[in-house]
Amino acid sequence: MITFKSLGLNAQLLKAVENLGFESPTEVQHKVIPILLENNTDLVALAQTGTGKTAAFGFPILQKINTENRNTQGLIISPTRELCLQITNDMSTYGQGLKNLNIVAIYGGASITEQAKKIKRGAQIIVATPGRLKDMIKRKMVNIRSIEYCVLDEADEMLNMGFYEDIKDILKNTPNDKDSWLFSATMPPEVNVIAKKFMHDPKEITVGTKNSSAKNISHQYYIVGARERYSALRAVISLNTDIFGCVFCRTKIETQKVADKLIKDGYKAAAIHGDLSQNQRDAVMQSFRKKKIQLLIATDVAARGIDVDDITHVINYQLPDEIEIYTHRSGRTGRAGKQGTSVIFITKSDQRKIRMIENKLQIKLAKQEMPSNETIFSNKVTHWINQIKNTPVKSDLNNYFSDAIESLKDIDKETLIELILSHEFKNFDFNPKLNDSRERNVEQRVNFDRSDRKINAPQDKDRFFINVGARDQYEWQTLKDFLRSFLKLGQEDVFQVEVMKNFSFFSTHKNHRDLVLKSFDNLIMDERKVNVELTKKGKTYSPKSRSKKKKSGFKKKKFR
Ligand code: AMP
Repeated sequence: MITFKSLGLNAQLLKAVENLGFESPTEVQHKVIPILLENNTDLVALAQTGTGKTAAFGFPILQKINTENRNTQGLIISPTRELCLQITNDMSTYGQGLKNLNIVAIYGGASITEQAKKIKRGAQIIVATPGRLKDMIKRKMVNIRSIEYCVLDEADEMLNMGFYEDIKDILKNTPNDKDSWLFSATMPPEVNVIAKKFMHDPKEITVGTKNSSAKNISHQYYIVGARERYSALRAVISLNTDIFGCVFCRTKIETQKVADKLIKDGYKAAAIHGDLSQNQRDAVMQSFRKKKIQLLIATDVAARGIDVDDITHVINYQLPDEIEIYTHRSGRTGRAGKQGTSVIFITKSDQRKIRMIENKLQIKLAKQEMPSNETIFSNKVTHWINQIKNTPVKSDLNNYFSDAIESLKDIDKETLIELILSHEFKNFDFNPKLNDSRERNVEQRVNFDRSDRKINAPQDKDRFFINVGARDQYEWQTLKDFLRSFLKLGQEDVFQVEVMKNFSFFSTHKNHRDLVLKSFDNLIMDERKVNVELTKKGKTYSPKSRSKKKKSGFKKKKFR
């Protein structure tokens, strides 16, 4: 068995490996680490997220830098803030035994002066997103003129996101004789251009097949009618009751719509898309990471850098236009040696795309039949039985136990099970297609009735974030009622109310923007400040005039 020791790691790093419980190096680690430790070389590595690539470049940098020296020696550029923080976190864990090690993350959407202060204290390694790094170079807040190692992580994503010019400008500020290490999941021509232009005779490493998805992902597809995607999604969820998944849609509107429907149907779901502010996205991602959300509905852009282990399923609600994006999506599952499933919903007329994916990625996509309603139901019952069997007994219920036995004593076991089962599944719909069309009608009533038709154009509506949610005993109907009556708005003026555990979202017509923001400005309820924000990417809106502290008429609601 190949060991980390045989790769040439020093004692401090081996100790970290032991603490982390890594038993043996992953493929990318055993291919890359010895090369980087033994040589001063440029490197291009084709490896997916989840293959252990952070440690593949992280350990060599940590071993090679001099922590006695406070100058910046290593630079890691990553496409997104989430990934930047993840790398910083991982690198700090890997370097836990190195005295005086200082790794600083710099990324947009947070205080630039705070980040500059941290750099000033001495950062041997900087992990950065391209935009913020370029800005800080221009403002002379970072000095990368004498770095020895430069990593471009997820290079294909960075180019997809249009960072080519930024990367070019950043690299101009680095020395020619540094070692450059480029990591990418796919190798589109643009990445080749970067490798040719900025690297000297790089060594090439491929993990798995070029442009292919990780091996431990099973790829499946369902042929669905154009309007059956949602019922197909529910069927897949019912078949996999422990699903912890990411559902990819193509547009923000679709993303929100699917999340709204799932929430309405009782699933722990949330949407993440570009209309949410960075803080809101962080809140959603945190809930997902902590598994308070079971299904994350995302657009490709918002999902960039989602770095959550244990995702069991990636669902392609619609296929992306480019096959590379399919690779990125499916790479969110099957991480760190675990099994994952990537599911595609495709219409009959689009079936040829299945063959295209198979040919290009050299993978097999297995056709699945939609499960019958009986299968779904029997699955749910099995899951329910297992849950019951594994429920820890609550000792505080002991006092009521004898009462319950007394009340139920005349019912025989079979009848009792029948009654409990009927009670548990009283809301189960034995005809999901009918259910789906009914839902469509309900949705049409909401979306297309008189008041909403005016605001059908997305640019005419505002979406707000509010820091109250289910923990404050709100459901979407009660929150909608509260908002309407507090804002003195009509029945149709507040819509698309989405209640999460700790926060919620709602929409109004743009005309009501000032009213909404001013009404909640300084509102204190049960000693907690109610915070309402416009969900506009990168912008915070402040109302022109500030109203006096208001008292709410809704004292009964509990805010903690
Ligand atoms: P990465 O591809 O760097 O994002 O790594 C994905 C996950 O794999 C992270 O949670 C790492 O902690 C984990 N990991 C990295 N290397 C190993 C290893 N050799 N053995 C087990 N897990 C690992």
